[in-house]
Amino acid sequence: MIIEKQAEAGDVAHKVEIYCPSCNRDVDETELAAQKCNDCGEDLSTPKQSVTIAATSVSTIGILW
Ligand SMILES: [Zn+2]
Repeated sequence: MIIEKQAEAGDVAHKVEIYCPSCNRDVDETELAAQKCNDCGEDLSTPKQSVTIAATSVSTIGILW
């Protein structure tokens, strides 16, 4: 699942991608709500998040958690 955030005051526009920590598959809203991966059954209470900052020339990728 990719969540796109609009730039707000003091913030920059960024995208948050959510992945299963076990199988690295993309997690959708339903799986996130159920906190369980449909592919491997992993608990998704602490999913992997990849944040991409939408900069003009360079993209910065950071991992939360
Ligand atoms: Zn999984």
